[in-house]
Amino acid sequence: MKLVLATGNQGKLREFQQMCQEDVIPFSQLLGEFDIVEDGDTFAENALIKARTIYEKLGEDYLVLADDSGISLPLLNNEPNIFSARYAGENATDKENLYKLIDEVTKKGVSSTPAYYTAAIAVVTKYGEYVVHGWMYGTVIVKPKGDKGFGYDPVFIPEGYEQTLGELEDNVKSKISHRAKALELAKPIINMLQNK
Ligand code: IMP
Repeated sequence: MKLVLATGNQGKLREFQQMCQEDVIPFSQLLGEFDIVEDGDTFAENALIKARTIYEKLGEDYLVLADDSGISLPLLNNEPNIFSARYAGENATDKENLYKLIDEVTKKGVSSTPAYYTAAIAVVTKYGEYVVHGWMYGTVIVKPKGDKGFGYDPVFIPEGYEQTLGELEDNVKSKISHRAKALELAKPIINMLQNK
């Protein structure tokens, strides 16, 4: 079965391709670009919605992977959470979302605050559906640093580090990230399904 990733997010695609030994094809290569409506209430539901949508279009020869992820700040009642990609509005860019987060933290009168990333990875195949999760804890600062990674990475300092994910090398993030941890749990499931 060919591995297809149900995302249009280039940052996620790059990380999946880096972390998987096998070829992961973005769905747009097979089906063209289109938006998938994510109307679930949790990361898991949204990951499943994305993976199912693509699986239904491609069919039984494919194993479809989807990631739904986001950042949560206890200071902001755990916002933006599942709304991370549209925190500053429906079609907001990563940069607009990043600055909205900085604004909201600044309004609270602090310059740094605890935060965590969550990733849910869904696997959909003819044999069934699976979802796993991973988390990365750290601190959000209000001064962006570095241009590596994507999304909120320039303001996120992982626990145990002194630099943001915008400054740290990609190979650091690919060992400690929410996505890497979820993928470690997904890999045995993918192997099991491919050897059926
Ligand atoms: P999704 O594509 O609907 O899952 O939205 C994910 C959003 O969460 C992204 O657009 C980013 O804003 C944020 N996000 C998720 N994972 C990361 C990450 O690893 N670094 C930075 N931002 C992330």
